Amino acid sequence: MADHRQIQIATPSLGEEEWQALREPIESGWLTQGPKVAAFEKAFAGRHGVKHAIAVTSATTGLHLALAALEIGPGDEVIVPAFTWVATANVVVYCGATPVLADVDRITFNIDPQDLARRVTPRTKAVIPVHLFGLCADMDAIRNVLRPDIKIIEDAACAAGAAWQERSAGSLGDLGVFSFHPRKSITTGEGGMVTTNDDRLAERVKMLRNHGASVSEEERHRGPRPYLLPEFDLLGFNYRMTDLQGAVGLVQLRKLDRFIDERARMAAQYRSELADVKWLRFPQEPEQGRHAWQAFVTYVDPKKSPRPRNEIMELLQQQGISTRPGTHAVHMLGYYRKRLGFKPDDFPAARDCDRHSMAIPLHNRMTHDDVSYVVKTLRSL
Ligand SMILES: *Cc1c(COP(=O)(O)O)cnc(C)c1O
Repeated sequence: MADHRQIQIATPSLGEEEWQALREPIESGWLTQGPKVAAFEKAFAGRHGVKHAIAVTSATTGLHLALAALEIGPGDEVIVPAFTWVATANVVVYCGATPVLADVDRITFNIDPQDLARRVTPRTKAVIPVHLFGLCADMDAIRNVLRPDIKIIEDAACAAGAAWQERSAGSLGDLGVFSFHPRKSITTGEGGMVTTNDDRLAERVKMLRNHGASVSEEERHRGPRPYLLPEFDLLGFNYRMTDLQGAVGLVQLRKLDRFIDERARMAAQYRSELADVKWLRFPQEPEQGRHAWQAFVTYVDPKKSPRPRNEIMELLQQQGISTRPGTHAVHMLGYYRKRLGFKPDDFPAARDCDRHSMAIPLHNRMTHDDVSYVVKTLRSL
């Protein structure tokens, strides 16, 4: 074979600017949450049209804080989609509450509002819709099937820069949570951001991120009364982002829109050049709003496909193309199967997405020619 290329499923895009951005915190010695995190939060809030953005160590810890800020605990139910990264359900268990799964839509991979409506009980306190792979969930339909007292936390881990109709992800629910893991479109290594327009919730999230302290270290450091220790009225955590990460995040955020545009162009190239491959279904741009293209997740139609998905994935691997299942069905994972006694058929769409979804490479270090190579290889199957 002439072509020995290796195309990763995802690769972070960092360079000289991120490298330089690390100088200032390293030279100043202010390493943990400080001025760089504050600047990153301000810029992130501005870009996503929200009043508050609060940086944390990951989307997982951000989701945990969002639930803790809403005082969700034992006896409460929180509805999450059955097809999502396991963290969306785990955070509910961290709070001692009960995760209730709702099935998803096979086309968008997002929570199915009709099934969601069936899962609501008097104990339902919140729903965590996921904007999976960067496509916003149907927020109007979700709101319409929920009682007004039920809170909505957007799992926007994949959705930095995405929009639902005219509004940004992260501004659509009571709280939103983003991830800066290297698999997402912008990265700080590990990292996350909680967004909200609610002043009281923002205050609680800030306190809970820092052991429940009433004032932050930075405020104390700069304040006039050095003898003051904060009050600790809440049971909090240490989920603070470092200023090293904040500095990198600021640079990455400036590149976000370019990254999404590049990804959208590659996604369009995939769709047009693979249009006659009838056994593969492709993600589409929403009619209104903006897909953030965190991943390009196809669906291998088992009735039309020349081979089962896993064989296709192996063949692509042999040709230097890495692929992954889109994500997993939470009810089929060992912990949840045992804890809640689920069977695969309990959530048939999530089961099918687990078995038949296939993410193909999409990241900002790919060239037009790399996309063509993936297309050519897929067509040859
Ligand atoms: C990546 C991801 C998470 C977890 O993000 P971390 O920052 O790694 O904790 C949660 N939910 C979804 C949908 C994700 O894709």
